[in-house]
Amino acid sequence: MRVLLVEDDDLIGCGIEAGLRQAGFTVDWARDGHQAGLALRTTAYALVLLDLGLPRISGMDLLRQVRHGGSDVPILVLTARGTVVDRVGGLEAGADDYLGKPFDLTELIARCRALLRRAQGRSVELIRYQDLTVNPAAQTVEAGGARVPLTSREWAILMQLLTHQGIPQSRSRLEESLYGWQEEIESNAIEVHVSNLRKKLGAKLIRTVRNIGYVVEKE
Ligand code: CA
Repeated sequence: MRVLLVEDDDLIGCGIEAGLRQAGFTVDWARDGHQAGLALRTTAYALVLLDLGLPRISGMDLLRQVRHGGSDVPILVLTARGTVVDRVGGLEAGADDYLGKPFDLTELIARCRALLRRAQGRSVELIRYQDLTVNPAAQTVEAGGARVPLTSREWAILMQLLTHQGIPQSRSRLEESLYGWQEEIESNAIEVHVSNLRKKLGAKLIRTVRNIGYVVEKE
């Protein structure tokens, strides 16, 4: 799942980026509000982590712009300005959750997962689909009770499809969820990963939608 981190502090940004990567997210890191605005207009993110004190365009202005533009991407606001006034202001401007600095990385990841669950309409952590049990926090998949090891790319594709059941995902949409700014997209990679997923989890799980991409049907 691809997330946008908006943070101008190098040290804090590095820590968060590393933590999110380790938790299995694809991370784009924007250092100012302007760069973040551009990224949000061109990429569909699953989640945004937004610092409020930013150069060029402030986090609060960016938040208002995003909501004014009609986007309902989940936004977690990160800021040292932990006063009640700021907190309420951020939530009223359209933030979904709020975390005051300094925070614990474990709590940050847990809040991210909770927001994603809420956005996907799930109240429990596990995703069950036919004989599959998927645990996003642990990044594990069991088929019929047996653990199936997946590569990080296979995992990302499976999550994208399982969290958009019944909605075909184009190859470019899948690539977008897989690769961050710095990464080079391998040609045919999506086909190869889908083929491996079918070998590991059964040929029927992922259906090819001609000229579009792939879908996991609604259960
Ligand atoms: Ca800042």
